[in-house]
Amino acid sequence: MFDVIIAGCGPTGAMLAAELRLHDVRVLVLEKETEPASFVRIVGLHIRSIELMAMRGLLQRILERGRQRPAGGFFAAINKPAPEGLDSAHAYLLGIPQPVIVHLLEEHATKLGALVRRGCTVAGLEQDDDGVTVELADGERLRSRYLVGCDGGRSTVRKLLGVGFPGEPSRTETLMGEMAVGVPQEEIAARVTEISGTHQRFWLRPAGVGVYSVVVPAAGVGDRTEPPTLEDFRQQLRTIAGTDFGVHSPRWLSRFGDATRLAERYRVGRVLLAGDAAHIHPPTGGQGLNLGVQDAFNLGWKLAAQIRGWAPETLLDTYQAERHPVAEDVLDNTRAQMELLSTEAGPQAVRRLLTELMDFDEVNRYLIEKITAIGLRYDFGEGPDLLGRRLRDIDVQQGHLYDLLHRGRGLLLDRTERLTVGGWSDRVDYLADPTAALDVPCVLLRPDGHVAWIGDDQQDLDDHLYRWFGQPTRA
Ligand SMILES: Cc1cc2nc3c(=O)[nH]c(=O)nc-3n(C[C@H](O)[C@H](O)[C@H](O)COP(=O)(O)OP(=O)(O)OC[C@H]3O[C@@H](n4cnc5c(N)ncnc54)[C@H](O)[C@@H]3O)c2cc1C
Repeated sequence: MFDVIIAGCGPTGAMLAAELRLHDVRVLVLEKETEPASFVRIVGLHIRSIELMAMRGLLQRILERGRQRPAGGFFAAINKPAPEGLDSAHAYLLGIPQPVIVHLLEEHATKLGALVRRGCTVAGLEQDDDGVTVELADGERLRSRYLVGCDGGRSTVRKLLGVGFPGEPSRTETLMGEMAVGVPQEEIAARVTEISGTHQRFWLRPAGVGVYSVVVPAAGVGDRTEPPTLEDFRQQLRTIAGTDFGVHSPRWLSRFGDATRLAERYRVGRVLLAGDAAHIHPPTGGQGLNLGVQDAFNLGWKLAAQIRGWAPETLLDTYQAERHPVAEDVLDNTRAQMELLSTEAGPQAVRRLLTELMDFDEVNRYLIEKITAIGLRYDFGEGPDLLGRRLRDIDVQQGHLYDLLHRGRGLLLDRTERLTVGGWSDRVDYLADPTAALDVPCVLLRPDGHVAWIGDDQQDLDDHLYRWFGQPTRA
């Protein structure tokens, strides 16, 4: 009997497993693939996800394996640098191969004690009052108190639950791959610059010695159920660029669409959904992995609290209440971005207008904060603007605030040095620091770094500790 079984060891499943292990939850991750993914898709980790890595002590390892790039140019690939003074100590984009992130997160989860079993396909589930029985494709049955489907866009768990996945089917298909080229770099750069003014879904970018990452529209390329061939890439390159750049020796070739769908519910009884299993959208702005990892960060401590027995009654349901609207917003911004990538005259005119508007600092900042998720504010009720937002990695007497959050516990940061976390000290750390770079007296942080309370009154604090962290252990 496990506490939690997670279906799928992608970035979402691996992050969730690690978050649960911080609270000693017995976790089993079931992954259908016997080997980690071999193709190397470079993804962009945005500011909030980089901050999450810092909050769990993973930043250095992630930075060593990725490439830092300036923030900006995210929204519909409109080429504008980020405005000055973004509200983060980690205001950059980190380009990193997706399999590397998955490996680092899986390694982190297993070091913390999670069990990962590969070659195990979840094929059936039944739930009752006490738990969930999970059936594997080979007939083996396993039992846990909760099951989380982190099994990607075609999620078996979501289908078994019968949860609707409304939205739009894919309309625009794109080919993506890595391959060698047969012409000099300067020739490629010149041609790409010429074409990228009119074709946004087209690029050839260096991806290692002699290798290029190639993206080209798939319009007209036959059967979508068949993997694309090198000849498909050559033909599409000739159609758009008038040359196939002598491409040869592919490392991998793939195809993706812009289907946009959102699960109607994130929880049915003891079964929950997270990551692509709960939402899919086009990769414009590079948000899918970030969104999934952030789902896991939101869910982990809440599910752990439920299992450890201290969760207030409605805590687990705040997962859907907080994360469903966030996904809705991401789906909408990717829909808008896809329109702006069209080569039609109307969308191109809107694109030019938005490009002009982005010269206004506020517009540019708003879009960057949206894509990087640092502008996110959960609805925790009436209160100052900081309430519900995440707190940036501020300097405190001991060093950096995020270094104090590695254990995934709550934190009371008290500039008045008068308050106490009392009977919640087994779940919430206390830090008295009159010099902390805050313009409010005290903040209570949830384990995901969001501000759950602001004030200086002990009774009001106790009410909020009770709201988020349940009954105190001592009177
Ligand atoms: C071209 C492209 C570029 C992208 N670029 C970015 C980017 O720059 N930034 C970004 O944030 N996102 C990007 N994304 C999106 C990102 O790749 C996904 O959102 C992310 O992989 C979702 O992670 P996940 O763990 O939820 O699902 P997945 O990565 O799909 O992982 C699901 C796992 O579950 C396993 N599984 C499936 N079914 C079962 C089963 N029945 N039993 C057991 N295991 C199962 C699968 O094998 C897989 O390992 C991009 C996507 C594409 C297509």
